[in-house]
Amino acid sequence: MDLIKIGGFIADCRKGKKITQEQLAEKLCITDRAVSKWERGLSLPDADKMLDLCNTLDINVNELLNGEKIDMKDYKKKNEELLLELAKQDELKNKRLIKDMWAITIPTFIFYIALVIISSTLLKEGPILATIICVSTVVLLIVCFYGFKNEVEAGYYECRHCHHIFEEKNYFKLLMAPHMGTSRYQKCPKCGKKSMAKKVMSK
Ligand SMILES: [Zn+2]
Repeated sequence: MDLIKIGGFIADCRKGKKITQEQLAEKLCITDRAVSKWERGLSLPDADKMLDLCNTLDINVNELLNGEKIDMKDYKKKNEELLLELAKQDELKNKRLIKDMWAITIPTFIFYIALVIISSTLLKEGPILATIICVSTVVLLIVCFYGFKNEVEAGYYECRHCHHIFEEKNYFKLLMAPHMGTSRYQKCPKCGKKSMAKKVMSK
């Protein structure tokens, strides 16, 4: 998605309506800084503001995200391009979440093991050793939770039996399910069979 083009389009539509950034911000109950950021291509309107923005500017969401007015005859094509683009971005985001998860949890885990081994070799049993182990265990648990959160947020699961792709964001359910890497043992909502459902990055 071309944020600069979208920003320019928002600015043009706003000027076409003869309203200032402040007036637009007031209509949408947001700050004029947010409007200025959109128009400079620094950010995209939040999903919950998009419809209001489009209504105010007399455009539709498809036009907003394409950054231009769309002819009715090109509409279907543009819509498909947009859906494809959104799917691509979803996949990229999911891949990044998983990459971040491994990048953070693996070094922390290695560091934790090393710290426990070294400190229990060098230090005598006592309050200092106990403190080091307690603090590092808490840090490890926090990092593991963060990694787990990334894993839950990212992507979908694929049933091994019927290849149905489904979403599961229930933390408790996922935490309790046995896993291997990012595959988790789950019941498929379509065929009802249980399997080691594989994590996939796109629908
Ligand atoms: Zn299934």
